[in-house]
Amino acid sequence: MPRVVAEGRKRKVVYAVVEGESTERDYLGYLEERFAGDPRTFEIHVLWKRKGLKPDEVVSWALDKLDELDDPRREQVWAFFDRDDHSRVAQSYERAESAGVRVAFSHPCFELWLLLHFVAGVSGSLSSRNVQDRLRAAHKAFKGFDKHLDAAAPAALSGRESAAVSRARSLITNCPGMVCTGRAGHGDGCKVVDRGPSTEVWRLLVELGVVPG
Ligand SMILES: [Zn+2]
Repeated sequence: MPRVVAEGRKRKVVYAVVEGESTERDYLGYLEERFAGDPRTFEIHVLWKRKGLKPDEVVSWALDKLDELDDPRREQVWAFFDRDDHSRVAQSYERAESAGVRVAFSHPCFELWLLLHFVAGVSGSLSSRNVQDRLRAAHKAFKGFDKHLDAAAPAALSGRESAAVSRARSLITNCPGMVCTGRAGHGDGCKVVDRGPSTEVWRLLVELGVVPG
């Protein structure tokens, strides 16, 4: 088999439309650099805007991108957005998922995913500010965290992915929805806005083979 074909078949291409203007972008850049390997087994293209996007804008862009794909077997579109205090979160989620966009939704915010690399469990009602404060306290590499991941962050995160994935799965199992499990995800009847605290960013790591499924 020609080498080019073999590589082309293997390498996944992810288009990630992100709500934030820095944190997700820095993290996804780290993910590619740390785990894609050489030759690369995947590539991540981050679609972002200065000053960020709202969830429904993230999803609209993701749907446009989905229409442009050349090879849907190899290419995927992901939508990253948060609960925060946004409106139209549930509708945005539904619109993305029903069209075939992969959703990485975090409640209350993306930084919860980073926090799960360092703390065994979170519970109760958390605001974005709570999560960011806890992240700053959780590891010295995040002490001055303010949207950007600084140079020490990759070394701090690296090696903790499996633990973070299993903690993120536990949060889904403990979801107030009662029909939700870490393996199957949130069930029917589990309202998107009631899914706090939880995050689905881990699904991308499983999809890319960074962590076993
Ligand atoms: Zn749930």
